[in-house]
This record gives sequence, C-alpha cells and structure tokens, in this order.
Amino acid sequence: MSGRPEILWPLFADLETLDGIGPKSAQALAGAHIEKPRDLLFTLPHSGVDRRRRASILEVQAPAVCTVEVTVGKHNPPAQRGRPYRIMVEDAQTTFQLVFFRAHGDYLRKLLPTGQRRVVSGKVELFDNVGQMVHPDHILTPDDAADIPVFEPVYPLTAGITQKPMFKATGDVLAKAPDLPEWIDPALRAREGWPEWKAALQQAHRPMSTAELQPTAAARQRLAYDEVLAHQLTLALARAQARRGKGRGTVGDNSKQKRVLAALEFAPTGAQTRAVGEIAEDMGKPHKMNRLLQGDVGSGKTFVALMALLIAVEAGGQGVMMAPTEILARQHLEGLRPLAEDAGVVLEILTGRDKGSDRAAKLAALVAGDIQILVGTHAVFQKDVVFNDLRLAIIDEQHRFGVAQRMELGAKGDAVDVLVMTATPIPRSLALAQYGDMDVSILDEKPPGRTPVTTALVATSKLDAVVDRLRAAVAEGRQCYWVCPLVEESEVSDMTAAEERFKRLRAALGEGVVGLVHGQMPPSQKDEAMRAFVAGETSVLVATTVIEVGVNVPNASIMVIERAESFGLAQLHQLRGRVGRGSAQSTCLLMYQAPLSESGRQRLEIMRETEDGFRISEEDLAMRGAGDVIGTAQSGLPRFRIADLERQTALMALAQSDARKLLLDDPDLTTERGQAARVLLWLMEQDKAVRLISVG
Ligand code: ADP
Ligand code: MG
Repeated sequence: MSGRPEILWPLFADLETLDGIGPKSAQALAGAHIEKPRDLLFTLPHSGVDRRRRASILEVQAPAVCTVEVTVGKHNPPAQRGRPYRIMVEDAQTTFQLVFFRAHGDYLRKLLPTGQRRVVSGKVELFDNVGQMVHPDHILTPDDAADIPVFEPVYPLTAGITQKPMFKATGDVLAKAPDLPEWIDPALRAREGWPEWKAALQQAHRPMSTAELQPTAAARQRLAYDEVLAHQLTLALARAQARRGKGRGTVGDNSKQKRVLAALEFAPTGAQTRAVGEIAEDMGKPHKMNRLLQGDVGSGKTFVALMALLIAVEAGGQGVMMAPTEILARQHLEGLRPLAEDAGVVLEILTGRDKGSDRAAKLAALVAGDIQILVGTHAVFQKDVVFNDLRLAIIDEQHRFGVAQRMELGAKGDAVDVLVMTATPIPRSLALAQYGDMDVSILDEKPPGRTPVTTALVATSKLDAVVDRLRAAVAEGRQCYWVCPLVEESEVSDMTAAEERFKRLRAALGEGVVGLVHGQMPPSQKDEAMRAFVAGETSVLVATTVIEVGVNVPNASIMVIERAESFGLAQLHQLRGRVGRGSAQSTCLLMYQAPLSESGRQRLEIMRETEDGFRISEEDLAMRGAGDVIGTAQSGLPRFRIADLERQTALMALAQSDARKLLLDDPDLTTERGQAARVLLWLMEQDKAVRLISVG
C-alpha cells in the first residue's frame, strides 16, 4: 500500500475546513482526540431531542421540549434590573411566554416582532399554570423552520464546544464524506440489513428516534463492524504474513510422548488430548505455528506444553519454554525433568542466575544439541543463547510479557513454531481483539478430583480470629498461603508489609512454621523458602504476589489474601487457583479493609459466587472496561470509537472469520472487495498497525 487513497483526503484534512469550526473549537476538539474530520465522523450522538412540530404546547407533558409555530404578541421588558424579559406568544390552542434573562430589547424586537409568525423550539415548563419557554433553542421564521431537525442529535461535548457547532460540523463532514466502495461481504450486509457506509453515517448522526441511537441500531452495528473488521483484517494480515514465512513441518513419531504417558500418574483430560492434537497438527504443517493455549489455572497446561516439546525433540530438534519468574521456571524444571528422563530426553534450566563456566557449559551443550529441552526465564532469549535446531518456543503465562518479547521470540529462529500459554481467562471479545492473529486452543475442562474452594469475606479487624483458626488448621497438618497486599506500586513497601506480617504470624504460630518469600529477597533465599513450603517443612508461606503465577503445591489448602479489594478479580482468581489442587477441602479468605464500597463488595461477591474464570473475567470486564482488565500498557488493544468491546463479542467473532476468509480468497487484496478493504484500513488508520505488526 503506497499511500492514503485520494478519495479519503477530505476526511483527513484540517478540522477547520469544516463549517462551524474555528481555531478555538478545533483546539478544544483536539483535546478530546478529535483531530480530523474523520474523527468527527466517528463521534456519534449519545442521545437526541424530539423536535417534532406540534400544533400546541398542550400536546406535550411539561416539562418537555416542544416545537410550535406561534404568533408573537406583546413584549414585556423587565420592570427592574435582573428581572427577565417576557414575550407573550400564542400557538393554535393557548398562549404562553418566551422568557429571556439579560437580553437586549432591540435584539429581541428584531428577532420576534409583534404580530409576526415564528417557529420556536425549546423546553416548556409550567409556572403557576402558565407555560414558559426560557431561552428557546431555536427561533426561526416559518420559511426557515425546516432547518430545525425533527429529532436533534445530542453529541458528547468537550469543554469549549457546544451542540450547535457540533451539529454544523458533523453536517458538513457528512456532506463531504465520499461514497466509498463496499468492503463488507454483500451476503453478510444483506443478512444483517446493514445500510451502506455513507447511509449508515447519515442515520447514525441524524437519527429519527431514540431507537436509532441504540448500539443495536443497524447503522451503528454497521459502523461498529467496520471498526472491528479493520482491526481483525490487520490481525489477519499479520497472521497470514507469519504463516507465509518459511516454516518447517515438525512431525513427532510419538515414541517419547508414549513413554511419558506411560509414566504419568494421571490420564490426560479430553481437553488436554484435544489441545495436544491441535498443536501436533499445526506443528506438522510447513508454516510457522502461532498459537495460543488458553486454560484456567490448574487446567493442566504444563502437560500440554511437555507433549509439544517432545514432538520437537522426536523430530530431532529442540524446544524451549520461557516462564515469567524464576520460581516458576524452577518448578517447571522439577516437575518436568523426571518425565523427560523417563523419555530419555535431556532437560535443562537457564536463568539470570546462571553465570560463568556453568552458563558457558550449558550454552555449549545447547549449540551442540545435547540439551533438548530448555526451560528458563527471559534469559533463554539472550543474544548469545544459540540453539542447534530450535523448533518450538513456548511462553508460559504470557500476560506478564509484552508484545516486544513476542517479537524477540520470532527473531530467534525464523522457522520456530510459537505457543503462548495464558491462564488469564480473558473474555472472548478481548481474546479476539488481542490475540486475533493467533490460532487458539482452549483447555475448558479441569482434571478430575478437584474439590471446590470455599471463599469467604472477612474484615481486617478480624485478623486475630483468622490467626486463631489458622493455628488450628496448621495443627491438623494443613498448609496456607498468606498473600500480602500491594501497599503501593513499590516493591519495597510490599516487602515491608510482608515482613511485618511474617513476624506477627511467626510470633503467633511458632518459629519454623512460617516462611516468607518476596520479590526483593536474594534468589537463593527465595528458592529455600519455596522448597521448605513444598516439602511441608513450613506450614504457612507469607508472600507478595510473586506466588501468583503458576506455583503448584497440592497440599496447600488455605489461601488468605489481605486487602483483597485492592486486587483485580483476575488476579484474585489466579491466587485462589493456588489452592483446591489436592483432595482436601480448601478455603480462600478474602480480607478487606472496612468499609467496602458498594462496587468493591460486589466484586468480592463474584469471587464467592463462582470459580469459573471466564465468568469472573466477563464480570470484571463489565465492571472495569477493557483497558483495565488486561492492563492498558501492554494490552495492545485498539481504541474503538464506536464498537464496544464489552458488548459486541459477536461482531468481533464475525469480523475475525470474515477477515480471515477475505484474505484466504484474496491474499493480496487485489479484487474489488480487496481494494475496498484497503480503503477501510486507511480510513481506520490501520496503516501504521499493518506495518508494525508485519515486523513481528
Ligand atoms: P496450569 O494450567 O495452571 O499450568 P498445571 O499444569 O500446573 O496447571 O497443572 C495443575 C496440576 O494438575 C498439576 O499438579 C498437574 O500435575 C495436575 N494435572 C494436570 N493434568 C492432569 C490430569 N489430566 N489429571 C490429573 N491431574 C492433572
Ligand atoms: Mg502453569
């Protein structure tokens, strides 16, 4: 795509080219991210005023907006300063007053000469049974009265701009909007009853009724669809590009997978088997795999990952799995190494802690191909880490990783298949928006034998009672995580809070019973604290959220979370997922600082009601909005002007399949519809995104 098509130029001109917009209002609009006529076109009215012509104000139930033709009667200037100027008027059935404050008599006599006919529109109110219209919104001669819209749109305003210039400017940009070729599949448009692009804009900006203002109105649906289609096309282009890149078919012979399955003490769930199958098929194809494995905490993603890594090894290559934390990388090592050994596979770990000759030896073994599976932290992607024949890279718990890391990964080996695993069950609309360029496998089934976790809300003031109960539980051999709050956005204050809680619990429960782990500890101490807890030497582990991601201690059956109200629901869900992994009845105590706000209580109540991560994420989304749920900084989520991620999941799904199909039929966007789709991408300013994404 060389440059923005000429047909779109008027929509990308200065705002001041529009009627009603001067330098001042242009500046005001720019403050609200409305910088071009195009932006104004996608800023839709949020409500409307019924200005249907009536015969008399008696036809509406005051107070209400009314539009009537009147004969202007007597002018009553104010008797003293500060009083209003009143003008008697008469419609078809009654008389009422037009009321003006601080008005110039000369001006009013010119505007409303006694004896003449005028159409006035404004809010009618009753005072002592006398109808009044204070400062009518419109006063026009009957000849000009057609200028009053029957249904007047009301725009969201920003300081420094009023409805009138908004109406004028949107009217002008509607007039200037070109007729664009249709990019929506004609069959889809017919099925949905969507208007053409320009007609949709006209209807959305100049609705005839309240119904037409609803997001479900055909015109608005179409415009929302345009936005999500542009986004999905961008993702689909990125996906197509990635798949076109040279890849290799990696086919396993099942020999090592079989040995692991035989050694395993459990049978894989149906969902695990299905996911492994999807991954195996994708890896076997000659293009690069770019796949997301989504599964709630505890759904058994690690097993799926191991099988995929074994496929790479069976095919004679290597695999790498990157975890977001050192603790998690070590846990993968401990969990996977015995299984790898069963299969005769060499598995090693590489983290930032590997230094000197140790590290050099590992790097040498990697180049030689003597290490077949490498697990580790982001250290596995340092420049000098070179593989002999890397075929699969897995990123665990990717919500900790930004887009940048994803791109680094792509650079490691251009034929490397990529599997991203996430435990954040984000709502489908967000998954589509954020990972629309990837193929998705879902683990929607939990391994059997899990007992539900009982969740309770407890005020911080009951801390002593909680400690007493904990003492009893510890005496029964139970283990407990105690998560300390994020005091501020500072690891140091987290640490202080955790250390203080540690001291207090140690004093209450006894020396040697309580362990502590936080982000500021030296690595060896962290490992030791984790090891002691896993081994059951300590019964209580006081921690900051470093335990959030992926730690697995099946015997732990109590989770205490302090200041639960300060955590996101997804995070609480992750934390709670640390318990309920064994057969013991598990408990999660959400401690809050009273008083809880109404919404704060509602959020915690959801945690009590359900353990379904998808439902929790949907509720979280509904309450907080898209950016918050994922964390705006790394979300890479588009900002839509019309589409609504929270409510238009179906549109997003439709757009994804539509976009992929379009690219399948017309990979280079050269057909008539393909050309139209290019115009859409430029219109939606996806030009930059296309270039950006095609780098990765
Ligand atoms: P996550 O998806 O959160 O990464 P893990 O892979 O850590 O989950 O698995 C959680 C626990 O469930 C582990 O102890 C694992 O051994 C166990 N597990 C995994 N798959 C099964 C299965 N099919 N049946 C029984 N237990 C399983
Ligand atoms: Mg995991």
